[in-house]
Amino acid sequence: MSHKSPDIADTFGRPLKSLRLSVTDRCNLRCKYCMPEEEYAWLPRDNVLTFEEMAAVTGHFTDLGVDKVRLTGGEPLLRRDLPQLVRLLFQNRRITDLALTTNGILLGDQAQALYDAGVHRVTVSLDTLRPDRFRALTRRDEHVRVLEGIQTVMRVGFTGLKLDTVAIRGFNDDELADLIEFGKRVRAEVRFIEYMDVGGATDWSMNQVLSREAILDTLSRRYGQIEPVSEVSSAPAQRFLLPDGTSFGIIPSTTTPFCATCDRSRVTADGMWYLCLYAKDGTDLRGPLRAGASPDSIRALIRSVWQGRMDRGAEDRKALEKAGVREERLIEVKKLRDDPHLEMHARGG
Ligand code: SAM
Ligand code: SF4
Ligand code: SF4
Repeated sequence: MSHKSPDIADTFGRPLKSLRLSVTDRCNLRCKYCMPEEEYAWLPRDNVLTFEEMAAVTGHFTDLGVDKVRLTGGEPLLRRDLPQLVRLLFQNRRITDLALTTNGILLGDQAQALYDAGVHRVTVSLDTLRPDRFRALTRRDEHVRVLEGIQTVMRVGFTGLKLDTVAIRGFNDDELADLIEFGKRVRAEVRFIEYMDVGGATDWSMNQVLSREAILDTLSRRYGQIEPVSEVSSAPAQRFLLPDGTSFGIIPSTTTPFCATCDRSRVTADGMWYLCLYAKDGTDLRGPLRAGASPDSIRALIRSVWQGRMDRGAEDRKALEKAGVREERLIEVKKLRDDPHLEMHARGG
């Protein structure tokens, strides 16, 4: 059946355009801003969607207007045969932008197969160029493999390689320019992300947040005048140019939320759909899917939930600053154990 993609809008007029699909909640790192705890509760394996189910769910979203899909995790490359999912999604002609976010460890082995399957845009998370810092941040000794993975991506021919760096005061604030220089060498745009107080970030504190202003200040002391790039985009990154024409981005979710234009939502590996990174409740899509609900009824469910969407999570968190209570955790550790969906590594960032 052919459906013209209708533009459906939420209560603030935001369209449904971009889907982040988490393919696993498992991870081979333990980044301190994402998985700082010693132990985790995992999504039951039987609940994790098959690739066919993921492609079907994605198809319902693209029927309703989604045209950007990003595979994420946990660490998406830990999901066995990921290129097979990419092949299924590549057949969906409504997806105009199919991308992947990874920590890079397994890219050396998988980049070519992923590229051949049809994903041509990749974002690698890279917070530091120093192996000792990487080990301290992630509790794993995998820095070399991440750097090798980035080199492989370059060789294979991916376009628009991005390196995402969570900028943390007292951790990597002295590496911002080094990361940009590294980005130049591997033909990647570096994007600095402000440290967010999402569920799972149980070590977060405001004084570790390196703000957009502080990032710009540091970089302009090193490079001179920095110009903002003027562009209309729903992408979260604000882009800037250095005097030599090098571009970089800042994603200022914590100090300058961009909820007003947010067209993104997230599906976890077990088919729970969240309207916001900070949302505490989601919509179960696995249940109806496995119960054999008709495509029309699943689309109707998605449409009505999106039309009722009121989420502006990062703005709500920011509003807590006035009352001086932003340091209170979004979600306590015990609650994260009871419901792993609340974790950043289940939602996919
Ligand atoms: N494992 C993959 C990776 O690290 O690229 C994909 C999933 S990870 C949850 C997606 C992104 O979320 C990463 O770039 C990571 O740096 C970012 N992230 C995780 N926790 C964060 C936090 N508390 N604040 C800001 N970004 C965070
Ligand atoms: Fe780090 Fe990504 Fe794993 Fe979170 S999911 S611990 S950000 S590698
Ligand atoms: Fe979108 Fe929620 Fe992030 Fe705001 S906090 S930009 S609404 S996902």
